[in-house]
Amino acid sequence: MHRKVINDILTVLRRSNSFFLTSHINPDGDSIACETAMALFLERLGKRKYVIANRDGAPEIYKFLPRAEKVRKAAKVTGQFDVALILDASDPDRIGNIIDLKKQAGKVIVIDHHLSAIPFGDLNYLDQESASCAEQIYNLIKTKFAKPTKNEAISIYTGIMTETNKFQEANTNPAALRTAALLIEAGVNPMALCKKIYEQNSLEQIKLLGHALSGVELKLGGKVATLMVTCKMLKETGASLEHCEGTINFARSIKGVRVAVLFREQENGFKISLRSKDDTNVNKIAVKFGGGGHRRAAGFFLPGPLSEVKGRVLSQIKNLLNK
Ligand code: 5GP
Ligand code: MN
Repeated sequence: MHRKVINDILTVLRRSNSFFLTSHINPDGDSIACETAMALFLERLGKRKYVIANRDGAPEIYKFLPRAEKVRKAAKVTGQFDVALILDASDPDRIGNIIDLKKQAGKVIVIDHHLSAIPFGDLNYLDQESASCAEQIYNLIKTKFAKPTKNEAISIYTGIMTETNKFQEANTNPAALRTAALLIEAGVNPMALCKKIYEQNSLEQIKLLGHALSGVELKLGGKVATLMVTCKMLKETGASLEHCEGTINFARSIKGVRVAVLFREQENGFKISLRSKDDTNVNKIAVKFGGGGHRRAAGFFLPGPLSEVKGRVLSQIKNLLNK
């Protein structure tokens, strides 16, 4: 289905010599997986001149991935690149001004799987049906080579596993599972990889989870669960923002809850995460507030004090649930 754009991307990669790779702010497992798999793929193509940088670097937990050591944390990159590869970022704002695409990149290639994805590149490989963006990188690799290397496989499997929340979420589809099977055949040890990512929590992280969960509230007749991570909680526990991942799922798991909302306190407002348990399309709310994401997992930022922010979000959720 995406054969033409995949071939066009491969042609551009073959003809180019310098590459810039980035992903979205607050990168997750899929972001880092895409970058490391793409770096390994570029190396196999004989392309060694690449820079990987994200505004927020890489979460500690993914630093074991081969080539993750190359992921820099940078507010801005300098220099010119033949190609900028924008991975798992649905719109230009999501990369946090790390590069001036017009001035610094000869060609922009966007590869993404979000419902809210905008085709802002010269080449856009967008696939909402793909469970993870890492699988799209795999589709490039398999068009060129018979098999992924073990290291490529480890990255891609990590992308699929984290983006499907251990093959549990609604995006877990036949393609994701077929790809996962092939990756295991290419050398991935699923249990070892799962342990590396999910069984290495720090005490600080678990304490933060406790703080956040003790504040869970039910709203709208029990259909909505809200929880919060404040700067004070981070300070008291010694945890950092990247340790919030997964916290919201506990709120969503409450019986009767259809939508969970996490408010993460920031300097001048709140970063909001939404998760739905049924078919409720929370991306609609995120887009309304200038954010985006997927049908059942989306996010956005809202300035202002908590009471105001909470009121605005809950009123949108109420409208959506009543539709
Ligand atoms: P999370 O709640 O884990 O931060 O994000 C859930 C999903 O929504 C992810 O796919 C993420 O990329 C997307 N997302 C989160 N925040 C934003 C945002 O501010 N803008 C856009 N476009 N997408 C977001
Ligand atoms: Mn992502």
